[in-house]
Amino acid sequence: MNKLIVISGPSGVGKGTIVNELLKKGDYALSISCTTRPPRKGETEGVSYFFINRDKFLSMIEEGGFLEYDNHFENFYGTPKDFVEKQLQTKNVILEIEVNGALNAKKSYPQAILIMILPPSFDELKSRLVGRGTENSEKIANRMSRIDYELSLRDKYDYIVVNDNLDRAVGEIEEIIKNS
Ligand code: ADP
Ligand code: 5GP
Repeated sequence: MNKLIVISGPSGVGKGTIVNELLKKGDYALSISCTTRPPRKGETEGVSYFFINRDKFLSMIEEGGFLEYDNHFENFYGTPKDFVEKQLQTKNVILEIEVNGALNAKKSYPQAILIMILPPSFDELKSRLVGRGTENSEKIANRMSRIDYELSLRDKYDYIVVNDNLDRAVGEIEEIIKNS
């Protein structure tokens, strides 16, 4: 039986980087979310996200097309149910989603393994977020302001992994998945 792995944690903590490392191992498929957020430079339709408009998103909600969805950072984000179910037939599937979505995914799919990634420190998180250079200062402040809320839900997660050293953190996650 293939596993559904849900990875979340504050913006800039390194979720995307960790997930890319896991995907290189070949045993995993990544769920591609739908979002109403506009694409960033370098993002590709159907690879980074399915970029859809608000009307389309709302009609997918009506049709029960999402395993989970949430509205944050002024946009909707959701996991398309059909896409995940199809991928689960052949591989373990990773969802890289924020905390509300993660907890909702666990409700719809109780076997899901919930992993929260935390930074070694708040300062390091800020420096990663600024260093990534993809958001302006207002958007960075918006993302940082959500951290307390995200941390308040840490006890609801199955596992917490600190992304201090990338290889170590990826290794720890692989062990968790293997043993779950
Ligand atoms: P997220 O997907 O959680 O928003 P990213 O994967 O985009 O975060 O990572 C944010 C930044 O932090 C990127 O520039 C990335 O290269 C860097 N980063 C990720 N993991 C580490 C790590 N263990 N040590 C140092 N920098 C890291
Ligand atoms: P970004 O705009 O940086 O790509 O993503 C912002 C936040 O949305 C991140 O925390 C990311 O994990 C989360 N996210 C991405 N896809 C989904 C999804 O399908 N559902 C939910 N709930 N959150 C998502």
